[in-house]
Amino acid sequence: MSNSIISVNNLVKNYGNFQAVKGINFEVFEGEIFGLLGPNGAGKSTTLEIIETLRTKTSGEIFVNGYNIDGQQNEIKKIIGVQLQSSGFYPLLNLVELIQLFCGLYNRNVDALELLELVNLKDKATAQVKQLSGGQKQRFSIATTLINNPKIIFLDEPTTGLDPQARRSLWGLIKNIRAKGTSVILTTHYMDEAEALCDRVAIMDFGKIVAMDSPDKLIDKLVATGFERPKEVKKANLEDVFINLTGHSLRED
Ligand code: ADP
Repeated sequence: MSNSIISVNNLVKNYGNFQAVKGINFEVFEGEIFGLLGPNGAGKSTTLEIIETLRTKTSGEIFVNGYNIDGQQNEIKKIIGVQLQSSGFYPLLNLVELIQLFCGLYNRNVDALELLELVNLKDKATAQVKQLSGGQKQRFSIATTLINNPKIIFLDEPTTGLDPQARRSLWGLIKNIRAKGTSVILTTHYMDEAEALCDRVAIMDFGKIVAMDSPDKLIDKLVATGFERPKEVKKANLEDVFINLTGHSLRED
């Protein structure tokens, strides 16, 4: 797992005289789930949107699957999938019709029901997005990232606002997508999610990457400095209680 599929060198983004991204460097390897973490305003969305070709950079070099963002944006667009917020979907179309619409836009032919089955939404094929629960909407928007059979998908806070079962269901889906060979780059504010999903994370703050490694190694490094968490007196937490009482299965369907 050492072939780099995204390579970012010295990326800078200025908005007027404010520097939102201050010369960052990182690589995403083929087949990995890479997390971009950091407080609001750290520069995560700016960075991702530049790689997605949706925003221009001020300076620096970016290669996606070997394509240079300077001059080869169309090639890059063909091999990436970007998650849209569900508010961006045409309200009157059902899920199958929306997938068919995207197929037309991407000039691809995809079996809509097969795709819906992959995200556990086959029985909602004729529903409109507004009739879906939060978790189902997220699963549908992830499905739409897969229509052009991308090598990399970009997920922006894919589980924000979901209940614990729906979050776990999304984690399973994201792992399945990676198991099929797609690289995943995501942002999240949930550290348990980053720990459960990501092979490596970069932590951004004030436009810089302040740490980058596997969650496990980052934790070990902190512990090696003598850091110790206040001892947990209980062997479970409230989320364990919640899951234990309400079960692991999805409710929304
Ligand atoms: P994050 O995704 O980590 O929350 P963003 O990339 O959205 O961070 O924003 C980084 C910084 O750049 C923030 O201070 C934000 O206010 C600023 N910013 C983002 N977009 C613009 C813009 N279009 N014009 C001016 N400043 C912006």
